Amino acid sequence: MTPPMRKGPAVHRAMWVGVGAVAASASQARRRPAAAVVIAAAAGLAGVATFRPRNPVFGRCLWRGPRDRPRAALTFDDGPGPSTDDVLDVLAGEDVRATFFVLGRQVDRYPATVRRMVAEGHQVANHGYDHGILIFRGPRHVRDQLRRTEESVHRAAGPGTMSRLFRAPHGFRGPATAAGARSAGYRMAAWTTGVFDSAEPGPATIARRSAEALAPGTILLLHDADGWAPGRPRQQTADALGEICRAARERDLELVTLDALAGVR
Ligand SMILES: [Zn+2]
Repeated sequence: MTPPMRKGPAVHRAMWVGVGAVAASASQARRRPAAAVVIAAAAGLAGVATFRPRNPVFGRCLWRGPRDRPRAALTFDDGPGPSTDDVLDVLAGEDVRATFFVLGRQVDRYPATVRRMVAEGHQVANHGYDHGILIFRGPRHVRDQLRRTEESVHRAAGPGTMSRLFRAPHGFRGPATAAGARSAGYRMAAWTTGVFDSAEPGPATIARRSAEALAPGTILLLHDADGWAPGRPRQQTADALGEICRAARERDLELVTLDALAGVR
């Protein structure tokens, strides 16, 4: 498998594609103004579709649940990692079920934690194998990332333990991402609100931002590990979690898995 493309180089390459599109548009502006407008509009739309995770142009995504039911979903990306058992301890204490978008690479390191997720009723969903950015990858690469992760989860926790939801690393998608996911049998997922817990602003800030975001249908994005530093903890998120669950209870919001929120099962 080709080495993962990291976030910085992927964004730089996308930027150069954008610069190329602006140059192409400018070169047409005098002789063929309509072509210039079409090129500029297509480039702008592709940019929004790539970097705005809920945008439907590169395929529809589950990014919010129904707003007429008092339910919301906690989702955790990039794990399992050193803080995941602490996250699971809090969820068990609060009697809350959540969704974990796991990386296959991390599943291979922490198979017992994945077994625990499944045993405690959480949903294990797919975040790709190595967190590589998929914007410039073809459908076969996307499919390989998903299948490899699925194999890791099945090795760890047994067959049939994986949800058919896929969240792309950083939510960045290219024109082939949805097709690759579809061919592997996956539906794309994004989120309603991220609280930037990976910037480690402190547990109180993570809890306050999460409490402000929680409403019927909200899919909250949190992190139980680091997509680029496999051994790095996410202790602040684990420490904020009790407060987040209490905030949901105070609003009479039931916290459920994404499949339950979306009515898949
Ligand atoms: Zn991630």
